Amino acid sequence: MDGIFSGLEKLGLGNIGGGDLFEDPKKKEEAVKKEEPTKKLNLAKEEDFLFEKKYKCPVCDGSFEAKTVRTGKVRMKSVDIDLRPNYDEVDQSKYDVIACPDCGYAALGRYFNTINKYQVDDIRVKICMNYKRLDYVGDTYTYEHARNLYQLALANAVVKKAKNSEKAYICLKTAWVIRGETQRLDQAEPDFAKKKATNDAQEKELLANALNGFIMARQSEEFPIAGMDATTLDYLIAALAVETEKYDIASKMVSELLTSRTANSRIKDKARLLKDMIAEKTGSAG
Ligand SMILES: [Zn+2]
Repeated sequence: MDGIFSGLEKLGLGNIGGGDLFEDPKKKEEAVKKEEPTKKLNLAKEEDFLFEKKYKCPVCDGSFEAKTVRTGKVRMKSVDIDLRPNYDEVDQSKYDVIACPDCGYAALGRYFNTINKYQVDDIRVKICMNYKRLDYVGDTYTYEHARNLYQLALANAVVKKAKNSEKAYICLKTAWVIRGETQRLDQAEPDFAKKKATNDAQEKELLANALNGFIMARQSEEFPIAGMDATTLDYLIAALAVETEKYDIASKMVSELLTSRTANSRIKDKARLLKDMIAEKTGSAG
């Protein structure tokens, strides 16, 4: 928790994030290191794939513009096992949080307008009153800025008592942002190894939190959960369990998917890939 929330002080919100992120009392295991392939990507003009979209803030009623990726203009190159899309042109995950620069209200795009009046009241008292204005100039978001926005979104989610799935989704997407940054680190830089190790540990902690949050959401929320049907969520839980080396959970979810009558062949194929990865990691015959 400290890792996820460290740095909130600079936004004036150092008092948020002391307790457990999710509502379930279950304790999470600490993160374990894992090696990720590293490569340097050359981004050709990320700003060409962005535009300023207008938003009206449901908390302070102000209007503002935020950078948004032009959908349809970027081409997906590949998808990571935890469903993170890879694009050459732009790291789309950096732009998924919408944040009001005036009052500090922030949420993932899909949740930005779904907020009730009690949540607005809580955010006004616990976020807006303490929030230090986050001014940003630049044609594209730096990873540091994107991380600040995600942290702000997570603080808002805690204050408005968001569902476990929303908090888990923020953790997942923050992990994706960190992975995007790691992929773009310059291996020639002297502090490359240190920065990569720090990022990998942070990413793993966030993935572990996402896994726990989605497991709790699966037990208590109605589908669709964070836009996912049951099969997709089960697959994601299996993938997150593989990434965080919770192979018992991963194996259980994978066998459920492979024997499921509702899972389609595409998701079963993906589950088979996970099964191979589990077999490789655990040394079992699969
Ligand atoms: Zn606002």
